[in-house]
Amino acid sequence: MMTVKRIALTLALACGVAGGAQAAATITIANTNAAGEGFNDPTPAAPIGGNAGTTLGQQRLIAFQHAANIWGATLTSSVPIRVAASFEALSCTADSAVLGSAGANDVYSDFPGAIKRGTWYPAALAAKLAGVDQTAPAAPHIVARFNSRLGLFADCMPGSGFYLGLDNKAGSQIDLVTVLLHELGHGLGFQTFTSGQTGEPMNGLPSVWDHYLLDNRSNKTWAEMSNTERAASAISGNGLSWAGAGVTAALPAALSPMSMLMVSGPAAGPAAGNYAVGDASFGPPLGMKPVAGQLAQVLDQGAATGLACTPLDAANQAAVRGNIALVDRGVCGFVDKAKVVQAAGAIGMVVADNEPAEVSGLGGSDPGVLIPAVRVSQVSGAKLKAALAGRPPGSSGVMASLGVNPAQLAGADGASRIRMYTPTEYSPGSTVSHYTTDARHNQLMEPAINGDLSHEVTAPADLTFSLLKDIGW
Ligand SMILES: [Zn+2]
Repeated sequence: MMTVKRIALTLALACGVAGGAQAAATITIANTNAAGEGFNDPTPAAPIGGNAGTTLGQQRLIAFQHAANIWGATLTSSVPIRVAASFEALSCTADSAVLGSAGANDVYSDFPGAIKRGTWYPAALAAKLAGVDQTAPAAPHIVARFNSRLGLFADCMPGSGFYLGLDNKAGSQIDLVTVLLHELGHGLGFQTFTSGQTGEPMNGLPSVWDHYLLDNRSNKTWAEMSNTERAASAISGNGLSWAGAGVTAALPAALSPMSMLMVSGPAAGPAAGNYAVGDASFGPPLGMKPVAGQLAQVLDQGAATGLACTPLDAANQAAVRGNIALVDRGVCGFVDKAKVVQAAGAIGMVVADNEPAEVSGLGGSDPGVLIPAVRVSQVSGAKLKAALAGRPPGSSGVMASLGVNPAQLAGADGASRIRMYTPTEYSPGSTVSHYTTDARHNQLMEPAINGDLSHEVTAPADLTFSLLKDIGW
């Protein structure tokens, strides 16, 4: 399943024939919509972004075929892959939606060519490995559904419909080809058939997925765990990683180093060390060349002015000038704080959270912000303030450096394996069968769609096919 932060939906795959000299698999789509609906919707449509269809239904089908061709040119199988697809009314509200959903139609174990014994394989992969269909000749390998009402009704993300062009220029709309590629990925095998909620394997056998899904603390795979252990790991926050060799080998070229705050200097005391930070969506990104200076806390100036929401007084200006300002979250936006400390001459900003929570980023946008900014947790903020207490405000001797850690990739665990999506609150359809949302660059197989995805499914741009290769493709 695929959702989006503001737009949620799932998508499916489409069809046709994968052609071209490099095409190594054929994907055909069975349009299961009734006359006049979904892929057969006769509403006139103007050609857009390389999609020459002249009705809504035609354009949907052409987009599907385009996505199917991308996968067809990537995969290798002597057995044509059949996808049953439809546009239907899926879950939707004014500001969130399920874009689509897809999965294998059935699973097989212990067939000729199966790599692992006693293990479920999705139908399309089983056919590839066996060299012959395991399912009934006309049955689909993959079933995919997409949201037919998206953007078209007031109760279904009005104004944020599917972009039907093939050129990945969706703007503020949802790129249908991207959603199709994602849902096809699930149907091809980017999913477990074991319940993440109860930990119970399907009919007593692990999925091929489970042999590579690793608890990065106990070093046990899902195939090796008890039901209780699996269910606990599924809501562990960041406790599950992908242990497949193909994905891990592709990781250094696919992911960016993680942003970090490094604190040092004789005055830092117990506050010295590296801090996890959340990136800002405004200002310059952190890079290999760190921005470094002394850390200076913006102090209260009276009524609600110590949060850097109003222009700094002379004492605070003197403290932050040429230094990295430490401010508290609250009262005004992060962009506002950045502009206030920037105006006072700060070269960077660290925002200390005002509530206990996992570290997250700083939202907002303003091209006027020219200094880097990050967020640290409330606990980290308290530690930094303790180090600054009693030090001269403008020359604390506590050195701060905003940069990246080349040894730690964004979205990877300590052993440089990509983490999987395991939020502490179980999310049906999303938990475990997606990559972590911490990955940078964003990945196609994260649970929510991101606007900066390409239409590529192979490394280094994307790690979807690397994972499918790990399970046998
Ligand atoms: Zn998904």
